[in-house]
Amino acid sequence: MPIIAHHLPHQIRISAVIVPKPIKGLELGKKEEKLGIRGSSTCLLMFDECQIPRENLLGELGFGFKIAMMTLDAGRIGIASQALGIAQASLECAVEYASKRLAFGKSILKLQTIQNKLADMAVQLESARLLTWKAAWLKDNNKPYTKEAAMAKLAASEAATFLSHQCIQILGGMGYVSDMPAERHYRDARITEIYEGTSEIQRLVIANSIIKEMTN
Ligand SMILES: Cc1cc2nc3c(=O)[nH]c(=O)nc-3n(C[C@H](O)[C@H](O)[C@H](O)COP(=O)(O)OP(=O)(O)OC[C@H]3O[C@@H](n4cnc5c(N)ncnc54)[C@H](O)[C@@H]3O)c2cc1C
Repeated sequence: MPIIAHHLPHQIRISAVIVPKPIKGLELGKKEEKLGIRGSSTCLLMFDECQIPRENLLGELGFGFKIAMMTLDAGRIGIASQALGIAQASLECAVEYASKRLAFGKSILKLQTIQNKLADMAVQLESARLLTWKAAWLKDNNKPYTKEAAMAKLAASEAATFLSHQCIQILGGMGYVSDMPAERHYRDARITEIYEGTSEIQRLVIANSIIKEMTN
């Protein structure tokens, strides 16, 4: 959904439009090689004097920014859920491997060092899951959820990065090779801290919300 800026005398207004394809003035860039989420294809969209029929306007003229922000709020719950899936898979992979891996005749699952890692992983995962459920519950019940969606996305994406990192550590060398899913979880986790608003932006959204709540 491209966002078009209209330059007006004293302000910039943005509108959302649906772009039909193919259309004159739209060129696609090369398919990008990515660190993770390689099952999806990504390329640049390059617009040059592209004229979109008026009936393709999405919502009202000048409301594109608002539409984009609303779309992002909902999308953040989706990305949080994606991150939870990666984090959950990392925990399951770590537990399964540790239960089978013997070091000096003993399962590494019995080592306190490994157990401490699993505990920290489980706490981050569960905290992020509860935040995600809360945001989804608020949305389902038509209550404001901008702050909660940002909290869920921030917590879940950082949990995915943490858990997939720890998963590789628990698998040792086997975590680093592509025979095991651990390295893929690590690569796939990374984008969840970037898309639908970076972690830095989630922190700004959360801080703005709590400052508003606590100073009004
Ligand atoms: C494969 C892929 C798919 C994507 N799909 C989507 C998608 O579907 N939907 C979507 O919303 N996004 C998506 N994105 C993310 C989006 O394209 C941008 O990458 C993202 O919004 C960050 O913008 P940027 O890359 O221009 O980084 P920049 O804006 O250049 O930011 C660089 C760094 O500066 C920080 N920064 C920038 N501005 C501020 C600020 N005001 N305050 C604090 N820190 C700041 C950023 O957090 C980041 O750490 C996708 C990205 C990729 C790689």
